[in-house]
Amino acid sequence: MINFHIITLFPESFSSYLGESILARAQKQKKINVKFYDPRDFVKPTKKQAGKDKPYLRVDDRPFGGGPGMVMQALPVIKAIEKAVANAKRAGASKTKTGTKSAPKIKIVFLSPSGKQFDTQYAKETAQKYQHLVIICGRYEGIDARVKKIFKTEDVSVGPFVLTGGELAAMIMIDSISRQIEGVLGDFNSLEETRVASSDVYTRPEILVYKKKKYQVPKVLISGNHKAIEEWRRGQSK
Ligand code: SAH
Repeated sequence: MINFHIITLFPESFSSYLGESILARAQKQKKINVKFYDPRDFVKPTKKQAGKDKPYLRVDDRPFGGGPGMVMQALPVIKAIEKAVANAKRAGASKTKTGTKSAPKIKIVFLSPSGKQFDTQYAKETAQKYQHLVIICGRYEGIDARVKKIFKTEDVSVGPFVLTGGELAAMIMIDSISRQIEGVLGDFNSLEETRVASSDVYTRPEILVYKKKKYQVPKVLISGNHKAIEEWRRGQSK
């Protein structure tokens, strides 16, 4: 079981993706758990706003040194992370065989396009080593960098492109790490890393007819010759 603690201004943006298919089932079966912490919930109304119904609680401000865009303030994010870490510590690690609770292993990730490249190896190691992963999603120009210093976070990027926020990046990490947890994929053998998987896959019908043209499945796949099939797949995946 791995617990994801997501720090985000937009927790709603996760629900459709995490509510479908394999990841929905993984949550139901308690193989993974996802909790949200909205920095806005840790902001108090200003004196001027006191007594107002639903005041606009500000979490961003102009960047020091000038420039376009807004920066997420440190303190609301810090408080949200504190809450996540407290929850993680309270939940503890999963019980060991002797029934004792060991201290949970917690990792804190700061999403940034200039961070360390996330990949399958990273997903695998995280799934093996940690019970709790706190993922901090930035928006606008990013989050006040002092947050990184305070929590000794790891900067992680999901690819060489810039997104408008960290939410999609966090979902990429949740998705990829979850499939490394035993029992999340219906058949653990589905893991590409443990077998020869090819990028091209086929299913019925054997002959697909489209606009009067026939499209055949590669013959080797219906040959029943497993050795030949593996070889073909190995060639495909190169
Ligand atoms: N001005 C910032 C970019 C901000 S993008 C810079 O140049 O670094 C807004 C937020 O989206 C970031 O704080 C980060 O949390 C997220 N984000 C954008 N692209 C990302 C990527 N490739 N990987 C991970 N997070 C990303």
